Amino acid sequence: MVKELLIAGFPRSGTTWMARMTADLFNAPLQDNPKNDPLIHFSRRISDEYIVRKTHHESITRRKSGYSGGGCQYVYINRDPRDVLVSIKYFKHFGSYYDAMGYMNDHNYTRFMMDWWAKGGDFNISYERLHESGAMSLYIMKKMLTGKSSMDDANEVYDRHKFDNWKDKYPGTMREGTLGQWKSVFDIYIGKEFERQFGQVMLNYGYTQHSDWWRELPDPNGILCVSCGINGHDGLVTHNGYLCWDCYEELESKAFHDGQRKGSGAPVRNINE
Ligand SMILES: [Zn+2]
Repeated sequence: MVKELLIAGFPRSGTTWMARMTADLFNAPLQDNPKNDPLIHFSRRISDEYIVRKTHHESITRRKSGYSGGGCQYVYINRDPRDVLVSIKYFKHFGSYYDAMGYMNDHNYTRFMMDWWAKGGDFNISYERLHESGAMSLYIMKKMLTGKSSMDDANEVYDRHKFDNWKDKYPGTMREGTLGQWKSVFDIYIGKEFERQFGQVMLNYGYTQHSDWWRELPDPNGILCVSCGINGHDGLVTHNGYLCWDCYEELESKAFHDGQRKGSGAPVRNINE
């Protein structure tokens, strides 16, 4: 009886990439949609011991026996939720990041992520780790799932599935997954809203350490503090330019102690006035 390896993850989390590499590593055909015929061209050799299937199953709907009744194992992949958002906006052609957040909610993103976080797969991997130490991750995965593994095979498979080798063949579905791309597109408003909606997921998965990560994102409607360079709304316009409250107070107190109160950047007007 064929054994199934089910590669699970929320859409745009690296599920396809992981499924292709796993199929190759296990010499297995790949079924990227239960309705489609299995694909064999991702694997160098094909044996009938395994079949790899990609799923977007929630953890609670996991099958124990797999699709063919021969038993199955789950590989679960997750990715920084902020990069998932960027990828979803791009692929679904949403006009804004807020629309893309709506898509995540419509597809029960939080429930999906929290449930997998609580239960896990037979092997768990992050998209980021797969980028940083992919061959080693593949080696460990096979070792954990089968008890035996080869670093040479893992290296070869990882190299074969580098983005550059496949981008021309699948131009519609593949896009170079730059890590941390959200950093160059998020502003403070997107970040604040994303934290409000998905903060717990990021915290649980270790992508954030606190709920204030978004505060230093650029503010397209704000202005930069001339001292610390951080955007803000609250603060003071001084003769030297805009100062946030923290810097203003620090400079004022320094000037006071130095006996140089005059010309220290005294407030002209409150920025909100
Ligand atoms: Zn400042």
